[in-house]
Amino acid sequence: MMDKKDIIKELNKTLDHKRFAHTLGVAHTAACLAMSEGIDPEKAFLAGLLHDCAKYMKDKEFIEYCDKNDIDITDVERDNPALLHSKAGAHMAQVKYGVTDTDITSAIRWHTTGHPDMSLLEAIIFTADYIEPNRAHDPELPEIRREAFDDLDKAICHIYRNTMDHLNHSEKTLDPMTEKAYEFYSSAH
Ligand code: FE
Ligand code: FE
Repeated sequence: MMDKKDIIKELNKTLDHKRFAHTLGVAHTAACLAMSEGIDPEKAFLAGLLHDCAKYMKDKEFIEYCDKNDIDITDVERDNPALLHSKAGAHMAQVKYGVTDTDITSAIRWHTTGHPDMSLLEAIIFTADYIEPNRAHDPELPEIRREAFDDLDKAICHIYRNTMDHLNHSEKTLDPMTEKAYEFYSSAH
């Protein structure tokens, strides 16, 4: 695997300034959540660093990248190719950055929609992506941030609720997995 310093250098080269700042925010937030949950913070940091590693591509490039690497594309993804940055990112983490740990690649794979009954690392990356310090898109962030360190599943449920509300009021299509995951997490909270 590429070492951490080189990964950070390469991300700084490929991602724009704002995305790079977000990436560092997710990595640090994920490491903190991992400490709070009693799992390896270094592993969470790495997953956070790489979660958006493919996000520098344009819509057409996502489709080409996935076609070239036999990554299947759903109808929703074809309509909204940016969604593919998670699948493409998981692949890129493996082939470009040399990550072999499937806990990490799977956390990257699922960070955008999440899925029902996520692993702890998947849940941490999904949550860190939403709450990292550079984010300011949701007025309930202070509450969600507190929940994340107090009861992670409750924070996830809150994130889904707000995401669904937001998507229902916008033109964007809802990935069916988001809906399934919301049902799973809301039945527990
Ligand atoms: Fe992302
Ligand atoms: Fe992100």
